[in-house]
Amino acid sequence: MKKKNLINEDIDIHVAERRNLNENKFKLKKYFLSIAFFLIFLLPFIGLAFKSNFKIILSGVNNVKKVVNNDLSILGHLPYKEISKEKLVFIEPNIEVHIDMSDSLLKMRKDARKDGIYLVFLSGYRSINLQKDIFYSLKSMRNQIAAERARVSAPPGYSEHSTGFAIDIGDAYNRETDFEVEFENTDAFRWLKKNAAKYHFKLSFNQNNKNVDYEPWHWRYEGSIEALKVFEASNRNLKKAKILKTYN
Ligand SMILES: [Zn+2]
Repeated sequence: MKKKNLINEDIDIHVAERRNLNENKFKLKKYFLSIAFFLIFLLPFIGLAFKSNFKIILSGVNNVKKVVNNDLSILGHLPYKEISKEKLVFIEPNIEVHIDMSDSLLKMRKDARKDGIYLVFLSGYRSINLQKDIFYSLKSMRNQIAAERARVSAPPGYSEHSTGFAIDIGDAYNRETDFEVEFENTDAFRWLKKNAAKYHFKLSFNQNNKNVDYEPWHWRYEGSIEALKVFEASNRNLKKAKILKTYN
């Protein structure tokens, strides 16, 4: 009897162990199922989080793009207000410029003469209305679309000439190069390149400008606070374009 009990106890123990194993397996299954359920439940949230992160990354990329495009430029030209008539002065019968730059401009021409260089002033201040005529009449005359015309002339309201701080310069001995890229081969241009900065003049559209064609004849004055304010956005863009070029 005692022996039978022992056997029974043995059997009982085996049965008990098997039951234990089954229970463990069941618990494990339940555990994995609940994790799976939890994951399925979380999946849309993970997706949403990824999507919003992706949006943040994309907006970061767009912000970098905006560094270059954060201005109000049209076809590569920045908007400029028309200067008030009181601030304009005639330096020649048909050339008007901003009073702030007239002395410096005339001194530059005088000093160039001393070096045997004869600068000709081709165009100074232009009203927005005049710029409108130039832009639209030349555009249709030359059968050009706006983007093509904008490479060689600013749209009305976007010309540096409207500020009174821009001047187009030619060489008295090479008038065939007026408003032509060939002006860069004249003595006048070589002299300007070397000396214009002394009089606070700077070339507005150099060879590196992507939107506007190179204009060796077009100079702008940056010798007063007002002029610097007017061209602040343009200079800021140039700096940013240079920085981006460095990183590219
Ligand atoms: Zn010009």
